[in-house]
Amino acid sequence: MSNQQLTDTQSLMSTYNRFPIAIAKGKESFVWDTEGKRYLDYTSGIAVCNLGHAPDEVKEKVEQQLNQLWHCSNLYHIPQQEQLAEQLVKRSCFDQVFFCNSGAEANEAAIKFARKYSQKVKQQEAFEIVTFSQSFHGRTLAALSATAQEKIKTGFAPLVEGFRYLPYNDFEAIDQLANGKTCAVLLELVQGEGGVIPADKDWVEKLAETCKKEGLLLMVDEIQTGIGRTGTLFAYEQYGIEPDVITLAKGLGSGLPIGALLAKAEAAKAFDPGSHGSTFGGNPLVAAAGLATLETIEQYDILKTAQENGKYLKKQLEALKDKFNNQILSVRGKGLLLGLVTKTDAINIVNKAKEKNVLILTAGQNVVRILPPLTTDRTEMDMFISVMEEIFTTL
Ligand SMILES: *Cc1c(COP(=O)(O)O)cnc(C)c1O
Repeated sequence: MSNQQLTDTQSLMSTYNRFPIAIAKGKESFVWDTEGKRYLDYTSGIAVCNLGHAPDEVKEKVEQQLNQLWHCSNLYHIPQQEQLAEQLVKRSCFDQVFFCNSGAEANEAAIKFARKYSQKVKQQEAFEIVTFSQSFHGRTLAALSATAQEKIKTGFAPLVEGFRYLPYNDFEAIDQLANGKTCAVLLELVQGEGGVIPADKDWVEKLAETCKKEGLLLMVDEIQTGIGRTGTLFAYEQYGIEPDVITLAKGLGSGLPIGALLAKAEAAKAFDPGSHGSTFGGNPLVAAAGLATLETIEQYDILKTAQENGKYLKKQLEALKDKFNNQILSVRGKGLLLGLVTKTDAINIVNKAKEKNVLILTAGQNVVRILPPLTTDRTEMDMFISVMEEIFTTL
């Protein structure tokens, strides 16, 4: 198995613990490694390839765009970017969009945005942003300062100031949101990296109410939950709330790098020409990918498929938990962002699954994270469940 001997090249900085596989090709729910071995990809490139690998409709639009124009600066009108913004606005409660290239950058924009809104629109000095325990908001200096996980922050002091961390899903924390210096709240509705932890609906409702009452911007990080991952285009739709701001990235470009900040009109007054920018942000190629992604979701009713698949897979995982209740402590998540809380280290399960040609992820020490493409089907889900069953049987 020469694959097992794959080692990191000395030329790359060692910022990742990589599995000893090199992926050469992907189509729909499957990827092939450089040896031609096929894997069921239930990671979707970490919630990126929500339509599966190389979806035909997106590929076609991107190819057309490749033949026209790859890049031009944001100093000119970019029709594809304008159309994508219009489509995002049409399908959400937001009025305006800013494009960047990644999740961390979208949160970076949100952090700048919240401060600017406070100082310019509300003429206040409040600058503090409240975030929550176990959150993950990205790796730039401001985004990691917003992240309430020590392991992400160690060694990077001094961090960006102006963040305060409160316990997630905790009603008493809501009483501490506003303290005179606070201007915004930033949270995930299902914490992804932090362990696939959904926010409780009544907690989120009370949080949103308090933000409104206290004049705090409610900002939702939908970088992992967005673009159908939880069964609706955005997770906030399932919480009966309208945030002031959301951030998107991962699934938006089906694999091409694009991030976005969406805001309601009142909040969007924060930014004017010169406030923020990005060379590549929303360039014609990635915008074409984003546009084709949204169109495909609508054309093939993929949100319905995602809901049905999510329901089915969760039911099967719950049956698995009943069967192996000494190994699987709980099943949680929404739509196709699912987690198994395991007694053994989650990485043991992930490694065994890889040996059986199935790719899944961890989310912290004891959570197996399962992120199938929204377009997966019963056959693939049954294949996955039977592999998991084999693994737990021999544990
Ligand atoms: C992945 C992720 C980010 C960071 O996105 P990058 O594109 O890696 O910068 C931020 N927030 C959440 C919730 C994420 O899942």
